Amino acid sequence: MPRLKPQPSATDQLVVSGYTVPLYHCGALVVGSGAAGLRSAVEMKRRGVDVSIISQSAWGGTSACSGSDKQTLHTANTKDQGDDFQEMAGCIGAGGAMDEDTAYIEAVGSIRAMASLQYLGLPLPQDQSGGTLRYQTDHDEVGRATSCGPRTSRLMVKVLAEEAIRLEVPFFNQTTAVKILTQQQGTQSRVVGLLALQVRCRTQKNPYGLVLFQCPALVLAAGGPGEMYRDSVFPNGCFGTLGLALEAGIELVNITENQFGIGTRREGFPWNLSGTYVQVIPHIYSVDEQGGEHHFLADYYRTTQEMASNIFRKGYQWPFHATRMLDFKSSLLDLAVVRENQKGRRVFMDFNRNPQAIPGDLPFSLQRLDDDVYHYLSNAGASQKQPIDRLRHMNPLAIELYKRYKKDITAAPLEFAVNHQHMNGGINVDTWGRSNLAGVYAVGEAAGTHGVTRPGGAALNAGQVFGTRVAEHIAADKAARHFSTSAVEVPAVAAVAALETLLDTSSRHGVNDIRQQVQARMSDHAGILCTASSVASARRDAELLNQSIRRHGIAYRRHSEAARVLQWQQMALASEAVLAALDYFIANNGGSRGARAICDPQGDAQPDSALGPMPELRFRSERVEDKQEQLVVKLDNEEFHIRPQSIRRFDRDAKTFFERDWPAWLTGAIYDLNH
Ligand SMILES: Cc1cc2nc3c(=O)[nH]c(=O)nc-3n(C[C@H](O)[C@H](O)[C@H](O)COP(=O)(O)OP(=O)(O)OC[C@H]3O[C@@H](n4cnc5c(N)ncnc54)[C@H](O)[C@@H]3O)c2cc1C
Repeated sequence: MPRLKPQPSATDQLVVSGYTVPLYHCGALVVGSGAAGLRSAVEMKRRGVDVSIISQSAWGGTSACSGSDKQTLHTANTKDQGDDFQEMAGCIGAGGAMDEDTAYIEAVGSIRAMASLQYLGLPLPQDQSGGTLRYQTDHDEVGRATSCGPRTSRLMVKVLAEEAIRLEVPFFNQTTAVKILTQQQGTQSRVVGLLALQVRCRTQKNPYGLVLFQCPALVLAAGGPGEMYRDSVFPNGCFGTLGLALEAGIELVNITENQFGIGTRREGFPWNLSGTYVQVIPHIYSVDEQGGEHHFLADYYRTTQEMASNIFRKGYQWPFHATRMLDFKSSLLDLAVVRENQKGRRVFMDFNRNPQAIPGDLPFSLQRLDDDVYHYLSNAGASQKQPIDRLRHMNPLAIELYKRYKKDITAAPLEFAVNHQHMNGGINVDTWGRSNLAGVYAVGEAAGTHGVTRPGGAALNAGQVFGTRVAEHIAADKAARHFSTSAVEVPAVAAVAALETLLDTSSRHGVNDIRQQVQARMSDHAGILCTASSVASARRDAELLNQSIRRHGIAYRRHSEAARVLQWQQMALASEAVLAALDYFIANNGGSRGARAICDPQGDAQPDSALGPMPELRFRSERVEDKQEQLVVKLDNEEFHIRPQSIRRFDRDAKTFFERDWPAWLTGAIYDLNH
C-alpha cells in the first residue's frame, strides 16, 4: 500500500464545552477509505472539489482486508457477444426490492468503472485481443464477473489510493467519525460538519482527541456493519455508520437483507470458502466436545453423488438462500453446518480426504458427480486423487493464502462456519447517492442500493459507479466548491454534550458486554433461520439494552477508548433497527427471501433431509408482492418508524434523443439540484 502524506495542520481551533478542538474546513468530506470512498474522493478532486478523507484505518475495511476465493468485480461488456444493459440490470435486481433505476445505472456505469480502474493500473486479466477474461458468479446468468485474484478489492484500494495521493487529497488517518453536525435551514435540516475522534490530536485541553470538520457535503463510505454478528467473515473492526446515520435522522432501507455463507471466522483469518475451495470437494465433518467425529452431511443428503455435487456448488451458489434448502440443493449444506454448531460441535473441511460415502451408498468418485459438476471438473483438468491436489492444480494461491495466516491446509483441516458477509441494505439513497439529510451522501456498502440478492461482484461495482455519481453531483452543486460558512459551533456543543453523557466511568455497561450481547443476539436470532417469536423477543431485548445505555452510559478506562465506546453504542442502535425492521416484516406476513428462512409451522415450504422431512424447519415462501417494496427505517425521538416504500421504476422503453436531452446535461438539470 502507498505511503500517506502527513495530514495537514489545522488552521483554526474552536473551544467547545471547554475543550480546545482543531477545526478543518473542506468542501466535501469523505468518511472511509475503502474502494468506494476513495473512488468518490478521486472523482471529486478531479472535478475541482476541495475534498478531504477521514478514515478509522487507512487500509482497514472490507475492500482492503477481506476476500473470497476470488474477489469479483461485476462488469458489463464482457458477456460473450457484448452485453445488454437492460438485461444486465434485470440480473442485478432479480432478487427484488431493488430500485430499477439503480440497477440500470450500475449496469451502464460498470463499463466506466472497470475501464477507469484499468487506466489507473488495476491488472484485470485479458485475452490476446484485449477482451477481459470473465466468468459467471452467483445470482447471475452469464459471465460478467472478472477478478485479479483473491486481492482484487485490495488492489482497487491501492490504485485509487495512489491516485488520491497523486492528486494531493488531504487524508486524516486513524480518525473516527462519531457525530454528524446539522443545522436547521428553513424547513430543512442539512449537514454542516462532522465531529470525529483522533487519538493523535489528544492534548490536556482535548483529552478525547476531538476534531471538527466543517463541510457542506459529507459522503458516508464507511462500509458495512461487520461487527454486528458474532459469526462474521468481515475483517475485525468493521462498524460502518448505520448508527451514526440513524442518530442524525438519516433513513435506512432494506436492512433486513444480508448475505450469509460458509467461511473461516474473523477470530482467525476471515475468508469465504467459495470458488475452488469447495469445487475441489473436500471432506466436511464435525467434531463434538469429546473429540468424536461426525459425518453429519449423511443426515441431509441421500447419496454420495448428491452430497459431493452440492459441496461443489457452494463454489458459485455461495450465499445461503432459503429456497436452496429445498429439493436437496446446496443451501441444505449451510443449514447442516448451522445445526451442527447449535449442537456445540465444530465443523471442518479436510482437503486431504475425499468426502466420506453416505452409509449404504457407493464411495465418492470423480466419475460419479452430477453432470454440471463432472463437466466443470473435467474441463478444468481436475482429475487428481485428493482435494488438496485438485486445489494445487486449479488454484495454488488458495493454499498459499491460508499459509500466510499460519494455516497449512495441506497438513490440517480448516474450521469454518456460516457467517455474515455483507449487508445489502444501508442508507436510503436516490440515484445520485443522496440521503434524506441535505448534503449527506452514501456510497459502497454504507448505501442500501442492493436488493434482496445481488450478483457476486455487484457490491464492488456499485461502490465504483455511485462513488463517481456522488462526485459528479457534489461538483455540480456549487455549494461544495467553497468552504462552508455555516457555524458548526452550536451543533458541536450538543454533540460533545451527548458524548460526555454517554462516557461514564461508573456505568454498568462496558464495551465487551455490549459487544457480546449484540453479536450473540444477532447471530442467534437474526441469522439464516428466524421465527416470529424469537425475532420479536430479540427486538425487545435490543430495545431494553439501548434504553439502559441511554440511562447509564458506557464505561471506559482511558480517554483513548472513546471512539470504540461510541461505535458500540451506535452498533447497539443499528442492531435494534435491523431487528425492528425484521420484526415488522415478519409480523406483516413477509416470507423467506434471500438470506433468511422465516420458519413458521404454518409455512408452505418444508425442507427434506436424508432422514426424512424437517417439519421444525417449515418456512414461509417469499411473497411476490414483496419484491416490489422496500422497508425504510428512521429513528425519531428514540423510536424506530418503519414504512414500506415502492421500488423506483425504470422505463425500459424510454429512449434518449440527443437534441432534446442535451440541454439538461448542459444546464445541469440532470442533477436535479433543486430537489
Ligand atoms: C469475505 C468477503 C468477501 C467479499 N467478496 C466480494 C466479492 O467478491 N465481490 C464484491 O463485489 N463484494 C465482495 N464483498 C463485499 C465487498 O468487499 C464490500 O461490500 C466492499 O468492499 C465495501 O467497500 P466500501 O468501500 O463500501 O467499504 P470498506 O472497504 O469496508 O471501507 C470502509 C472504510 O471506512 C472506514 N471507516 C469505518 N467506520 C468509520 C468511521 N466511523 N469513521 C471513519 N472511517 C471509518 C474504514 O476504515 C474503511 O477505510 C465481500 C465481503 C467480504 C466480507
